[in-house]
Amino acid sequence: MEYKNPVLKKGKHKVTSPYGMRTIFGKRKMHNGIDIVGEGSTLDYIVAFADGIVKISKNSSSAGEYVELNHGSCYTRYLHMKKGSRTVKAGQAVKKGQVLGYMGATGNVTGAHLHFDIKINNEFVDPAPYLNGEKEFNKADFNVVREWQVSAILDGFEFPKFGADGKWGAECEGVAKKAVGKKRISYKYPYLTKLIQKAVGVKVDGKFGKDTKNAVILYQRNNGLKPDGCVGVNTWKKILGVK
Ligand SMILES: [Zn+2]
Repeated sequence: MEYKNPVLKKGKHKVTSPYGMRTIFGKRKMHNGIDIVGEGSTLDYIVAFADGIVKISKNSSSAGEYVELNHGSCYTRYLHMKKGSRTVKAGQAVKKGQVLGYMGATGNVTGAHLHFDIKINNEFVDPAPYLNGEKEFNKADFNVVREWQVSAILDGFEFPKFGADGKWGAECEGVAKKAVGKKRISYKYPYLTKLIQKAVGVKVDGKFGKDTKNAVILYQRNNGLKPDGCVGVNTWKKILGVK
């Protein structure tokens, strides 16, 4: 079988246990994800279901070596990876299809497989229709603030308390303040600079030069902000349309 949105690198898979109620050792229990192996019961690399930010990448006694990704208000988890195979760290941005690790049998399992699950608004849902492409994550979760947070993470900043949650708050303001160097955003932050360049309408190259600074000053003048060419909290709030 092949999914439209695969979580295995080679694409083809076999379901060994679907989502839903199941009987294990005589007990009825809810299985809140889907268990799969590669085609012909082989092992395979595990890839990200969608773009997101790594929320957790660690070892736990039941889930084994696992990764949890934040996609806005949706989360995906990849359990029982091979020991030492995880390729991502918490806080890192990942792309759909990016390798997260290799299938294994760590944690509470009887054999090697990938347990994949999806949480939407804090509740597990059947992953099958999402893997098949019948259902999709709500695109509204990928808002401008989240794009800003992801850009800041790519530039090396962290949001330890709330992550890239798509909401503008004190943690965002702290990062916005830190990103400003002498009268301009530091050259070290190309992803944030690209967002500024898109907003003020200059060439998007990630380098905050004279043209960008002049365009920022004009933008600030037109929007009733202090025209200093320095993109701090107030200018960001205007760009992102937050109060
Ligand atoms: Zn499972």
